Amino acid sequence: MYDLRICGGEAYLDRQWARTNIYISAGRIANISEALLPAVKHVDADGLKIIPGLIDPHVHLAMNSGPYTTADDFYSGSIAAAWGGVTTVIDFLDERPTGEGIQKEFERKRKLARNCVVDYGFHAAICELRDTAENIAAAALRIGSPTIKLYTTYKPAAYSSDETVEKMIKRSAENDIRILCHAEADDLIDFDLQDLSQLSKARPAEAEITQVLKIAEFVRKYEGNAYIVHVSSGTTIRKLLSEYPDILNKRLYLESAPHYFYFDDSVYQRPDAFLYSMTPPLRPFSEQEILKTDWRLLSVLATDHCPFMSAEKKHKKISEIPMGVGGVEQSFALMYQLFGDEVIERYTKNPAVLHGLYPQKGCLQINSDADLVFFDDQRESCHLGNHSKQDGSIYRDIVVHVRIEKVMSSGSFLINNGVQYGKKGKYLSRKLTSSL
Ligand SMILES: [Zn+2]
Repeated sequence: MYDLRICGGEAYLDRQWARTNIYISAGRIANISEALLPAVKHVDADGLKIIPGLIDPHVHLAMNSGPYTTADDFYSGSIAAAWGGVTTVIDFLDERPTGEGIQKEFERKRKLARNCVVDYGFHAAICELRDTAENIAAAALRIGSPTIKLYTTYKPAAYSSDETVEKMIKRSAENDIRILCHAEADDLIDFDLQDLSQLSKARPAEAEITQVLKIAEFVRKYEGNAYIVHVSSGTTIRKLLSEYPDILNKRLYLESAPHYFYFDDSVYQRPDAFLYSMTPPLRPFSEQEILKTDWRLLSVLATDHCPFMSAEKKHKKISEIPMGVGGVEQSFALMYQLFGDEVIERYTKNPAVLHGLYPQKGCLQINSDADLVFFDDQRESCHLGNHSKQDGSIYRDIVVHVRIEKVMSSGSFLINNGVQYGKKGKYLSRKLTSSL
């Protein structure tokens, strides 16, 4: 006898929709079968589409930026995530230069995440190293984070030089860690341009392209493992495809976020431009067009959810604005609306594999966590919800035909037909085991 049976839905199995029943016991998927088998509880999926719980591997909750803290802490941010079908978030530790620092920072951040309602993990993060790559890798692996983030900008606090990048990518050749890179060549950023209307000129696409190619060269040289977060320019993808086809999507993976698909840098001329401020910034329309053409070369769609209240963002001078936008709740509906079924694995299996959660997460398979999203893609039209604490979502006026109706985490409902249920997420210790 199973704990729960879900009937009458269409499940996404092996990239196809299948009318079948999903059986759950002890929080995990126990069987997938067209047969009607006995279970204690029964859920009628009512023809909805069922996919694995979404994974957002790029969120910033309870993060400080200058005098400001993100509008969402782990509680409010994870509630917004749940409404958007996201049952796993991976946040970032603050940058530390030593293995010991990573361990302490993990203990600090883990306390902040205690009230997270979805499952969660952390990426270790480094700045200019005062330790060996070996010690950094060992510390990250000890806390269950095989993913180590670095920034090639944000001097001096968060910045990593090319030497640090090279050292870490060299270490990643052992295949037990992956280096996540915020790639903008710091010396190509024009810090003298300070008017918000010039944001995309101050941090141009060339800065991203140049730095990504440098990272690709290290990856090829050492047979390392890297992942570029928030790719913003289509040309970045095109250049990699023409110059590094041997490593693209084999050793070097790409992530992007919905805001680069929905907006271009013309918004920086608007009076509410501050709401659209993030790094890297929105790109010219021509770059967005390429991104929309070549998007299948992206392995992961994430959000970089990093919202601040609009009153805090309302400045004209770039250096005074806390950078970042929200999106964890709206992301899937937005991208499904654009590209349909092909986005599903980029929110499920691919992030699970690349961030060391597969097959516990990211798939509908026996023994996987029973994290499920039930959605309807035939709605007349609906606005996207916003349960984040942030006001002024940049997606407030967008209408979609996709609506997430039910969300289940480890076999219990987080969301069911407009009602939110209390639940506590668990910390996920991750390990790189499989490849895409
Ligand atoms: Zn980020």
